[in-house]
Amino acid sequence: MARAFSSTTAYQSLPTRFLSPQDVAQLVATRGLANCLRDMADDIQADFLRWPDFDKTARVAAHSDVGVIELMPVADSQQYAFKYVNGHPYNAQHGLPTVMAFGVLADVATGAPLLVSELTLTTALRTAATSAMAARTLARPSSRTMALIGNGAQSEFQALAFQHLVGITHIRLFDVDRTATDKLVANLQHTGLHLTVCGSTAEAVHGSDIVTTVTADKTNATILTADMLAPGMHINAVGGDCPGKTELHADVLRAGKVFVEYEPQTRIEGDLQQMPADFGVTELWTVLAGQARGRESDAEITVFDSVGFALEDYSALRYLMRQATALGLGEPLPLIPALANPRDLFSLVRPTTIGANLSESKADCTC
Ligand code: NAD
Repeated sequence: MARAFSSTTAYQSLPTRFLSPQDVAQLVATRGLANCLRDMADDIQADFLRWPDFDKTARVAAHSDVGVIELMPVADSQQYAFKYVNGHPYNAQHGLPTVMAFGVLADVATGAPLLVSELTLTTALRTAATSAMAARTLARPSSRTMALIGNGAQSEFQALAFQHLVGITHIRLFDVDRTATDKLVANLQHTGLHLTVCGSTAEAVHGSDIVTTVTADKTNATILTADMLAPGMHINAVGGDCPGKTELHADVLRAGKVFVEYEPQTRIEGDLQQMPADFGVTELWTVLAGQARGRESDAEITVFDSVGFALEDYSALRYLMRQATALGLGEPLPLIPALANPRDLFSLVRPTTIGANLSESKADCTC
């Protein structure tokens, strides 16, 4: 339920909308998860097609021994967006998710923040939507079986996006932590997907058309090796997204044609970090725009080296804003003061104003 602003002039605020995780969960429940994934993928694709319109930059990262905290800004002439996101693969031992995020959508004309939203759940949605958007562009259209390596927080969203947007019917699961796989199986039991629990990555990959790697470890892991590949596979590599944190053996990249979101960022963060600076890659938007070739034969191996790009969060924030407005979700967040005289910021702390507010709050007090 929307909360009304205070009527005290000096403490009135501009109407920034706030969306909590519960608000976004309600939005997803109302619209339907498959529809949200489909609509987000379409929005992200439409924004990728406007690529030159955006002021882009690789994200700014602060690294520690156990994780990373990143800021991801992007803007066009109308709106500015940023996401705060972390990646701490050992957070489960503190009772926290590996990935946590929130973000802001702002008006370029004034700089006013329009939306402050949770983006932890939304990151899983937009990442799965982006993965499926890339796969429907690059994978063989006849793909029906996917290996899903890493069965943590992102995995259900990846499975459902590939079911509803790509046509995957069978998923072969593997995680080093069997409890993660059991959770995934339980969460997907009524989806109609055929699930096969496997004892290793190699077993899961065998016979799959698409391989999604979405593991979390702060190391140069070798989840997927070239000997596991078969002609025509599409690799959706999601978990290698930070310097010193990779999933694919370098030979997997050499075996296929590699597609990326924003090349300057992926060179630093993606599985691509292992390769020499002149190793050729294709930005996905150029394929979507018909400026570059995607898959060229049924036998070709395609690799989407995903790291997560700010434009996907811009699209997701705008989607949330549109849906929340239509559904009346969220609350006003008193973030920016609305001043009778915008140059009289001091009015907020002028003793008479504070006195007036103190006496007002006393008058309001019912105890
Ligand atoms: P999570 O911690 O919830 O799950 C990770 C899972 O990977 C765990 O269940 C863990 O047991 C498993 N795992 C670790 N090492 C493994 C191995 N060698 N083989 C098989 N399984 C293994 O994390 P999450 O939120 O699901 O995120 C997964 C990864 O995706 C993270 O690395 C995260 O940084 C990345 N991510 C990328 C994007 C993107 O846009 N590319 C977006 C969100 C998350």
